[in-house]
Amino acid sequence: MNGNFSKIQKLFENFYSDAICFYLPVIIQYYPFKNSIVYCSQFFYMKITEHIEQAKDTLISFEVLPPLKGKTINSVYDHLDPLMEFKPSWINVTYHRSESMFKKQLDGTFEKVEVRKRPGTVGICAAIMNHYKIDAVPHIICGGFTTRETEDALIDLDFLGIDNVLVLRGDAAKNEASFEPEVGGHKLGIDLLRQVINMNHGIYLDDDIKNGGKTKFCAGVAGYPEKHFEAPNLEIDLNRLKEKADAGAEYIMTQMFFDNQKYIDFVKSCRDMGITIPIIPGLKPITNKKQLSVLPRIFHVDIPTDLSNAIFKAKTDAECEQIGTEWLIQQSKELKTFGVPVLHYYTLGKPRVIRDVAKAIF
Ligand SMILES: Cc1cc2nc3c(=O)[nH]c(=O)nc-3n(C[C@H](O)[C@H](O)[C@H](O)COP(=O)(O)OP(=O)(O)OC[C@H]3O[C@@H](n4cnc5c(N)ncnc54)[C@H](O)[C@@H]3O)c2cc1C
Repeated sequence: MNGNFSKIQKLFENFYSDAICFYLPVIIQYYPFKNSIVYCSQFFYMKITEHIEQAKDTLISFEVLPPLKGKTINSVYDHLDPLMEFKPSWINVTYHRSESMFKKQLDGTFEKVEVRKRPGTVGICAAIMNHYKIDAVPHIICGGFTTRETEDALIDLDFLGIDNVLVLRGDAAKNEASFEPEVGGHKLGIDLLRQVINMNHGIYLDDDIKNGGKTKFCAGVAGYPEKHFEAPNLEIDLNRLKEKADAGAEYIMTQMFFDNQKYIDFVKSCRDMGITIPIIPGLKPITNKKQLSVLPRIFHVDIPTDLSNAIFKAKTDAECEQIGTEWLIQQSKELKTFGVPVLHYYTLGKPRVIRDVAKAIF
């Protein structure tokens, strides 16, 4: 039996992820030792909703940024390796749009250039799935893409067997005061979500495509326990979130928060208005004093007084990190008791802190 199992493992190692995705269902269906395959099959093709449905306890997942251009995929593995012992159910990969910059030319004039500091998510997600044999969830955004470019990216993801996506409008570009959609692109997260759901029904942008292949995307959307900063009030924001759930979103992933009551109240408001899909809390540690002003400015979240006072009083960076780590451990323990389906950690540059938190919880 072991020989058979290692044969299959070898098969996995030798295939690229698209090949794996193509052959795996066949192997599972026809391979005689189905029980030994179950272990492997759990690594692939599971939708976020299936992970949650099949979970016996609170799950853990992580979020990473694509590396800066010029760095290799090994920098992603170096970041994730210390976290893999906690058996994350999946890894999210954020999307970062290009920025307009003015570059000085030899003649002294400036030329406007589009600079993409981090590559897209398709390759990195395929690499993560192939390397760790776990699901990867690319973030897909409206900003910077025409609907046709989005369709092509979704087709690539589908071909690679990447069935989970987090659908977002995206942040404004660095040179924009507020979000500007691309010409021929989507304006709102729900428009992009509808495109994904249409493809799940075999509907592509080109009318000539009849009986198009149906993708299998499990689409998540963002939720804001403290309201999205552009929404006039929480009630309107929640109504818009309900529209996304009604349009086919299968789960919600929240913006970071530091006061669990905000998440608990948010979940209650969602349930009261008939949003029934899982609501995954997004969690981030505070590790330095600068974040006390940066996080509210960028993410429009409140820092509880007890936490901010403790960080202000800290004498060293190490002390700040210790306080932030303990806060996140406490937050995670409470949320686990509350019964959240998953603890999702934004690891951004802080895998060591997240490791300490995960060690205390899992
Ligand atoms: C978990 C998570 C992950 C994220 N990952 C990324 C990432 O990888 N890359 C990135 O660039 N950004 C990311 N973001 C940031 C996100 O793109 C921004 O917060 C963005 O400003 C809003 O995205 P959205 O999908 O919530 O937008 P939308 O759902 O489009 O909402 C944006 C605003 O429009 C309003 N609105 C919604 N529907 C309507 C309507 N029908 N009419 C009028 N107004 C409406 C909403 O109330 C809200 O104020 C992430 C955010 C979260 C919470």
